Amino acid sequence: MSPYRNLEEYNINITNEVKERFSKIIDEIGEDVTREGLVKTPERAAKAMLFLTQGYKQDAEEILKSAMFAEEYDDMVIIKDIELYSLCEHHMLPFFGKAHVAYIPNGHIVGLSKIPRVIDVFSRRLQVQERLTHDILECINTVLKPKGVAVVIEAAHMCMMMRGVQKQNSVTTTSGFRGQFEKIETRNEFLKLISSDLS
Ligand SMILES: [Zn+2]
Repeated sequence: MSPYRNLEEYNINITNEVKERFSKIIDEIGEDVTREGLVKTPERAAKAMLFLTQGYKQDAEEILKSAMFAEEYDDMVIIKDIELYSLCEHHMLPFFGKAHVAYIPNGHIVGLSKIPRVIDVFSRRLQVQERLTHDILECINTVLKPKGVAVVIEAAHMCMMMRGVQKQNSVTTTSGFRGQFEKIETRNEFLKLISSDLS
């Protein structure tokens, strides 16, 4: 399984199955599936759904392993403001925002572009923000075995904004810390760096 298998080619059988179900949903909500604007909608919706959940077929650990380098650098490495788009598993509606990741190398660093890819792999599934945070944290911790790793996610949830409590401006923040980030000074340094606009 290639870690980079992007879902540009769609499995015809699965796409057709999902398409049929979207067609039924559109009909059930009282729309006319045969009208011009909707004729191709079930197929588009099926492909969109399969694209947004392609993370199940990708291997985040392999992505990290493919770009690990021995290096003596042992200060904090921070990648902040990484765009993130996921689907909440309760309503299958989007939640989106930013992730901030830091690690303290322990003999190995990783190509910087791999961290956003790891985030995509876990985001493109049905998720809750808490587990997404944990998945990213554990993946980096397991593969890179750093002296410490930290993940903070700030996200807005469409299921809260468009329905239910309809809170338009609430942002949910989740965080996870391992190793040296469990020490309050290191954690605070990280939190200060991600909240500054120095970049
Ligand atoms: Zn939800």
